[in-house]
Amino acid sequence: MQTTGHGHNRSSRIGGFHRKSPAERLDLVAAFADLDAATRAHLADMGNLLVPLADKLIENVVATMNVPIGIATNMKVDGEDVLVPMATEESSVVAAVCNAARQTYETGFTTSMSGTLMIAQVQAVNVPDPFAARLRLLERRDDIKAICDDCDPLLVKLGGGFRDIEVRILDTSSGPMLVSHLIVDTRDAMGANAVNTMAEKIAPHIATWSGGRVYLRILSNLADRRLARAHATWKLAEIGGTDVRDGILSAYHFAAADPYRAATHNKGIMNGVSAVVLATGNDTRAVEAGAHAYAARSGRYTSLTHYEVTASGDLSASIELPMAVGLIGGATKIHPTAQACLKILGVRTAERLARIIAAVGLAQNFSALKALATVGIQKGHMDLHAQNIAMMAGAVGDEVDAVARALVAKGTVRIDVAETVLAGLRGG
Ligand code: NAD
Repeated sequence: MQTTGHGHNRSSRIGGFHRKSPAERLDLVAAFADLDAATRAHLADMGNLLVPLADKLIENVVATMNVPIGIATNMKVDGEDVLVPMATEESSVVAAVCNAARQTYETGFTTSMSGTLMIAQVQAVNVPDPFAARLRLLERRDDIKAICDDCDPLLVKLGGGFRDIEVRILDTSSGPMLVSHLIVDTRDAMGANAVNTMAEKIAPHIATWSGGRVYLRILSNLADRRLARAHATWKLAEIGGTDVRDGILSAYHFAAADPYRAATHNKGIMNGVSAVVLATGNDTRAVEAGAHAYAARSGRYTSLTHYEVTASGDLSASIELPMAVGLIGGATKIHPTAQACLKILGVRTAERLARIIAAVGLAQNFSALKALATVGIQKGHMDLHAQNIAMMAGAVGDEVDAVARALVAKGTVRIDVAETVLAGLRGG
């Protein structure tokens, strides 16, 4: 058994941890990790998330992680001005959206959505006659619809519910698999629980009708029936002429051709997308998985955005990606900060939220490409980065700005330099 310098036991086997209160759990963690009183008190402060609520959202809660919410200004989506709350720990992300949106404020972003359909998969194996079984399942469409809709009368009442079934035969390392896709309109919910329930309910019937054995029953995060789309035109004069425009185009062509570049290109898009997804209490991993899978749908991972030159020489940019976000379900409805962010956005449907998020992703991408094609990404990052480094070196209050300015002036934003500058400031 491991012991600490203080000689007490360090075991991760803590019986009944989940039954304890957050404060009791924190005591155990503090003892395990030798946290001092100040650190323990810091963790115990859950800010504006009520402890009982935090304790219900996930398991074994001891603290909350506070991430800043910044507001993206200048956004106009489908003719309507919108202030967009973005929750992120990364500097420059909010500023990038503000800048891109300012440069196309006159016309703003035009958006649309393919629908609010989610897909649940049911995997059947050991099906003796998969091709005939596929047809047997398709013939049961009405029965399947009735069973699925019966799982969620509220969703059906709201205009959602089962829409269709597709059956695929997959050739796999363990032989052919019969994979049924339940296509369900989940309206204003992200829909994971809604469709998972249907998949579990229909599974025994699929086993019977197919003659096989059913294993997995869960949604697909490749939500390609729920695509959010946004496009915008950046005027040549606004972006600084043909050199900048062609630099952005070339950056896009690079991402379109090269997965190494596309990963970073799309990561930048997700800087914007995930920040709004998080601020509204939605599932960042679900949206990220969907985006990257969609980017690889041709078999080769590529850019989620496209850039072209219009007939008048301006820059036309567009994005299309799965956007499984909701206004109900998960943390969206119960997290007070998510509710406040939805109120700021003024959205009344999940579709409007998804469309705004697509526009934010495009704005983010435009700014990143423009910076990369011109001054480079570090210039914009440096001021905030210098402040972070200054704080890491121990600067507090007014010292943060003073040290950061000195670092930028020197052109070396490093922690050792920050420590020297700080010592100088303090007369040490
Ligand atoms: P949910 O089940 O809590 O809410 C959806 C239900 O709310 C619907 O089934 C419906 O009955 C009801 N409802 C009320 N008003 C509605 C409206 N206007 N539109 C639609 N439905 C309405 O939540 P959910 O959206 O099904 O699931 C979301 C959660 O599932 C997220 O927390 C996500 O993290 C989690 N999850 C994700 C995955 C994944 O992405 N792979 C898997 C499992 C769970």
